[in-house]
Amino acid sequence: MTPAYIGIGSNLADPRAQVERALDELGEIARSRLAARSALYASAPLGYEAQPEFVNAVARLDTELEAFELLSELQAIESRHGRRRSFANAPRTLDLDLLLFGEQRIAAPQLVVPHPRMHERAFVLLPLLELAPDAHIPGRGSAAACAAALPGQKVERLG
Ligand code: ADP
Ligand code: MG
Repeated sequence: MTPAYIGIGSNLADPRAQVERALDELGEIARSRLAARSALYASAPLGYEAQPEFVNAVARLDTELEAFELLSELQAIESRHGRRRSFANAPRTLDLDLLLFGEQRIAAPQLVVPHPRMHERAFVLLPLLELAPDAHIPGRGSAAACAAALPGQKVERLG
């Protein structure tokens, strides 16, 4: 079993419901078990700012799948949520990012792990640290140190 951490984000079409439904669907992936989930967090959009706030969460999946198999499962869930690929940082009904896959480092055209921008995103690091305070990002160091080094990004834990 490999512990995999998945970042979930949505800012369209009832984002909280999108994220909750995605968590349920993560729990149904074959040869895998949803081991933990964070609270929901609200964050301001980065990169392209003329769009609604995001709702984010992180899940831990313990899986027997290979990383590429898991990525296909994540993309199938995104498609079911009506995700349309448009432009970078565009609004989206659902974004599922494979953040960490055990201690593996992968650099393929379709899959980079650890996720190449996770260490600079408070909306990823805060929910990750809620689940795994000692999380280590291969090549980057401790997730806690990465979070402490971030300038003030507006992320709010939702009740
Ligand atoms: P972003 O999440 O950075 O806004 P997208 O979700 O639109 O961007 O990007 C999806 C593409 O990123 C997919 O084609 C996928 O193959 C690629 N990708 C590379 N590494 C990862 C990863 N760790 N998790 C999810 N997708 C990844
Ligand atoms: Mg993505």
